Amino acid sequence: MMSMGSVAMVAALASLAVSSTASRDVVELRPDLAVEQLAPGVWRHTSYKNLPTYGNTPANGMIVVSDSAAMVVDTPWTNEQMEVLGAWLADSLHARVIVAVPCHAHDDCIGGLGAAHRMGATSYALNQTLEFAKRDGKEIPQNAFADSMSLTIGAREILLLHAGPGHTPDNIVAWVPDQKVLFGGCLVRSAHAKSLGNTAEADLQGWPGTIRTLLARFPDAGIIIPGHGAPGGLDLLDHTLALLAERE
Ligand SMILES: [Zn+2]
Ligand SMILES: [Zn+2]
Repeated sequence: MMSMGSVAMVAALASLAVSSTASRDVVELRPDLAVEQLAPGVWRHTSYKNLPTYGNTPANGMIVVSDSAAMVVDTPWTNEQMEVLGAWLADSLHARVIVAVPCHAHDDCIGGLGAAHRMGATSYALNQTLEFAKRDGKEIPQNAFADSMSLTIGAREILLLHAGPGHTPDNIVAWVPDQKVLFGGCLVRSAHAKSLGNTAEADLQGWPGTIRTLLARFPDAGIIIPGHGAPGGLDLLDHTLALLAERE
């Protein structure tokens, strides 16, 4: 028969094991907003929104910090969440959001852009994303580019690239060369995804070629962040191609 002492010990060990696997350095800012460091100065933010068709839906964005400057690639779903994220960056990382980039014009990328503008961030987006934001009555990004552009955040350089259509015609990716982190956004599906997600504006013909362009362009990507679900490696690009092949 087990003594009370060893039962307590087993319980304590079990809770230790749970917290060490569950934490993975995730910082929960609110029940609907969390951040997780993936590499030095590179974070993922995850926000949740209750959607009529999909239920409570998590969406990822990326934060790149250098010195006291921060860049947010895809805002959280809402302005309120973006305000909480900006306050956390200021208080905890002593960084101000100077740049915001929505990777396409859907709410999980652009929904917090108004708050980002109000906190003094300058925004950049593909020219087509500006058109879609205007068409859909969303906050309009301030600066447009065609195809690709490089942005300097503190001492770091980040590449924004339109590799082609996929989840939407305008979806772009962001590349952090010094950490080999690729933010794929909703163009890239997570390893657990069993479908292509919301394909209402997808280009199913063009999408595979766009993923192959990413494979050719970033063969040394170490971490790839999808729009929804857990980050992974190059396997996420292969998995997205496999999901596309199933649709043919
Ligand atoms: Zn989308
Ligand atoms: Zn999405």
